[in-house]
Amino acid sequence: CGIIGHVGDGDALETLLTGLENLEYRGYDSAGVAVQNGSGIDVQKRSGKVDDLKASIDGVSLDGAVGIGHTRWSTHGPPTDENAHPHTDGTEDVAVVHNGIIENYAELKASLQEQGYEFTSDTDTEVIPHLIQSHLDAGLSNETAFRRAVDELEGSYAVTAMFSGEHVLYAARKGSPLVVGVRDDQFFLASDVPAFLEYTDTVVFLEDGDVVVVDKEEIEFTDLDGNPLVREPETVEWDP
Ligand code: GLU
Repeated sequence: CGIIGHVGDGDALETLLTGLENLEYRGYDSAGVAVQNGSGIDVQKRSGKVDDLKASIDGVSLDGAVGIGHTRWSTHGPPTDENAHPHTDGTEDVAVVHNGIIENYAELKASLQEQGYEFTSDTDTEVIPHLIQSHLDAGLSNETAFRRAVDELEGSYAVTAMFSGEHVLYAARKGSPLVVGVRDDQFFLASDVPAFLEYTDTVVFLEDGDVVVVDKEEIEFTDLDGNPLVREPETVEWDP
């Protein structure tokens, strides 16, 4: 339902929680965040409101400059802690948030389970981190594994992924909105502009079929095959 991502020098967690609160108007049943800490990806998620998430991570150290967050509106699987996003491959090499519906998730899940990948949720979304992991296991780079996985999805998605040990976010969209917010030393990814409007009003609207790779210094826009695309930032005026 709602996606927020942050890359920059600052503390990702605060931006993520603010973004999730800004997206609350969309309605949701669960919330979660994943932050890149020194040793890997730390995921905190639960059913309920952003306030419940905040209460349960109070006192937990979640330091890191890169992270993703999600508010879920369940389509596949009830609103439980396990079904909340972000989803991982189990080893937390990769964490994913997703809006939309993966129409071919049952086939993908059956095939991944046959290959030994173990699922811990009822969601359609969980096929994405396992698909990515299966491509990593086959020796592909993070970026190629992400592209390959997205290419296999049918249905609608705005998806954002982060990999352990890397200060980069990967995102793609088809049929669900996704925007990039640009500031001097920070980039934001979100399903909707209000998520990051207090940080920047410079926005790049992604189109269906776009893949974006964002690190601290730059944004790269390509199509699914990796061909470069030109996407210009614009200044938005938004009445909150
Ligand atoms: N289909 C996914 C789920 O049920 C994502 C729903 C959403 O857009 O929040 O978890």
